Amino acid sequence: MIPGPVEVEPEVLQALSAPVPGHLDPTFVATFGRVLRRLREVCLAPGAQPFVVAGSGTLAMELAAANLVEPGDAVLVVNTGYFSDRMAHILERHGARVTHVRAPPGEAPDVARVEAELARGGFKLMSVTHVDTSTAVLAPMEPLLRAARQHGALSVVDGVCATAGEAFHQDAWGADVYFTASQKALGVPPGLALLTASPRALEVWRARKAPVASVYADWAEWLPVMDAYEAGRNAYFATPPTSLICALDVSLGLILAEGMAARFARHRRMALAFRAAWSALGLRMLPTSEAVAAHTLSAVYYPEGVDAGLVARVRGQGVTVAGGLHPELKARYFRVGHMNRVNASDVLTTVGAIERALVEAGHRHAAPGSAVAAAQAALGAA
Ligand code: PMP
Repeated sequence: MIPGPVEVEPEVLQALSAPVPGHLDPTFVATFGRVLRRLREVCLAPGAQPFVVAGSGTLAMELAAANLVEPGDAVLVVNTGYFSDRMAHILERHGARVTHVRAPPGEAPDVARVEAELARGGFKLMSVTHVDTSTAVLAPMEPLLRAARQHGALSVVDGVCATAGEAFHQDAWGADVYFTASQKALGVPPGLALLTASPRALEVWRARKAPVASVYADWAEWLPVMDAYEAGRNAYFATPPTSLICALDVSLGLILAEGMAARFARHRRMALAFRAAWSALGLRMLPTSEAVAAHTLSAVYYPEGVDAGLVARVRGQGVTVAGGLHPELKARYFRVGHMNRVNASDVLTTVGAIERALVEAGHRHAAPGSAVAAAQAALGAA
């Protein structure tokens, strides 16, 4: 129950145990082509160009930054924590002049402040972290994306801790780039960087004057490969992680069989059950309001008198949760991931383990079982 890598479906594990396919094998070509089409459906981006490349989420960040930024470009970073800072660092490495609109940990910047900044003009690109995994803050995507469009800035969204768990309609909401990694709500082990780019983003990339400062990240290397696989032909630039792509195909198939609306709703239902439990335990979440609270993970402060040793105590009760990550606060809170195949039983098991660990740590809260009951009631109500 950590915010990635997450538990994956048995069918996905089974795909990984098959003989390793060759990247030029006709069966693999068909699989890769289907993966690209399915990724468009999962991102609700019928008009976008998908890229699937071996690497982690950080490479996905670099795939966006390296291709869209030229030295001297002004970029606005809507900063909600650790991963927004990382994106800024990568954008700067590619020559961007970054302006941050920050909020205190647990809050998202006010849309009006972002709009005011965009209105000053000259921003080529706005970057937003859909869910910042360090704070569990969910950014107000729709109004932010509308603002970027109104002011002529491309929008780049880090969906690593959100894609396929948190509601997102890339085309309808007008996001130019949505990127993610395989090990979270997409339900595959770590190792894949995924990105969908709008026609507008591709146009901006095609019009660049400076060469992309990375060969491996250059869309020019990958676009012919993605085009070929989608057209049922093989192609080579750098060896794709064939086994992982087959596993991704299985997971995307399961995701689409559940349906995007149902999947977003299930993630929300599980998150609300956790919130009911936190509240029954008297625990405070990092996100300061429901409006900015993610549905893919929870970040929760330790109560008075309980320290970071709680994570080991929860593990002792049979469930793995994660400690804090935000540099200023990391000793003061823990995180629970609730992505991919998480169901009501997982919620109740996790809440039960946390309750017992808190009792062991000497936390005096409502009667043991009250948090499980609260989660149960929320699951029943949802
Ligand atoms: N962005 C966000 C929001 C993340 O949560 C992470 C990883 N947890 C990353 C980017 C970087 O991904 P990776 O660790 O796979 O490089």
